[in-house]
Amino acid sequence: MRILVLNAGSSSLKTALFTDNAQQTGLIDWTYQAGHAHVSLQSDAEENVAVVAVTSRGDVIRSHLQALCQQAPDGVGHRIVHGGMDYCDSVRITAAVKAAIVRNAAFAPVHHPAHLEAIAAVEDVFGQELPQVAVFDTAFHARMPAAAAAYPIPYHLYGEGVRRYGFHGTSHRYVAEQAAAFLGQSLAALRLVTCHLGNGCSLAAIAQGYSIDTTMGFTPLAGLMMGTRSGDVDPGLLLFLLRERGHTGESLDRLLNRESGLLGISGISNDLRQILAAAAAGNQRAQLAYDMFIHRLRSHIGAMVASLGGLDALIFTAGIGENSSKVRADTCAALGF
Ligand code: ADP
Repeated sequence: MRILVLNAGSSSLKTALFTDNAQQTGLIDWTYQAGHAHVSLQSDAEENVAVVAVTSRGDVIRSHLQALCQQAPDGVGHRIVHGGMDYCDSVRITAAVKAAIVRNAAFAPVHHPAHLEAIAAVEDVFGQELPQVAVFDTAFHARMPAAAAAYPIPYHLYGEGVRRYGFHGTSHRYVAEQAAAFLGQSLAALRLVTCHLGNGCSLAAIAQGYSIDTTMGFTPLAGLMMGTRSGDVDPGLLLFLLRERGHTGESLDRLLNRESGLLGISGISNDLRQILAAAAAGNQRAQLAYDMFIHRLRSHIGAMVASLGGLDALIFTAGIGENSSKVRADTCAALGF
């Protein structure tokens, strides 16, 4: 089997080709330089890197797919951010599924146009008949009980799709399955909290193999403090900023999504490695950013454990979770009881 996997975002397209005995990965970084993309292809044997002029993103994606796949794959999987109320499992992409991805772009305006662009490029290169599958980031959380999914706002909004969806679902699901395999136990019998700590951060409380609670909500802005995203703030604070400080929807979006989190507090970086280095050198704002990150992580883990009624394993993944033993140790230090 030859399976091509695409993770298309506004700033990058990540690709991987899995064959029976090998794996090749690729990356198009759209942010490299104005009018130019940085394209790389990596296999066990070699890495090819090129900077290409971008007149059409579609052209760049098509030639990247041709370079990655010497022969057509048997199937293609796309990571799609939002299944909305339409999908709670992976689905073969048809005209109706594409229409739903367009419709749900209101929930994920940055990602969905990039997903559609990637689906179209695959059709162009390999033909309409090649099976393509949408794998939704929200799907793993779709079985959250209503008590966890609904917001305490007027009920009719819940029926209109204003509810908690949760994200990073493919990551939470994968590491939960891997943890069960490591422990030699059935996933269905375990109560797990999975911590996806990258630039974006979220937790999932997993029971009987599904997410029953999570820290992200209607959007990926909720929950933990992140690289540039605030995570939870008092919603009244947003009203104050709108009414009293001249903010607009656009400027609040920028403030909360791009200028907050580790970057907003430290004033140094959204990258935890730089925060840790600055804190070690005595920078107090970097130290505060780190302390807040850990404080919020601990308290949200506490909430997830309470949703589960106990805990069998705590799992860390993504750039920070995998690599920072300090974050893991400082988090767990509060959970010894
Ligand atoms: P993305 O969400 O963009 O995919 P990643 O999962 O790659 O992000 O995670 C990026 C984060 O991981 C950054 O904050 C980076 O500083 C952090 N990180 C990577 N390696 C380390 C490390 N050795 N120690 C601490 N943090 C690390």
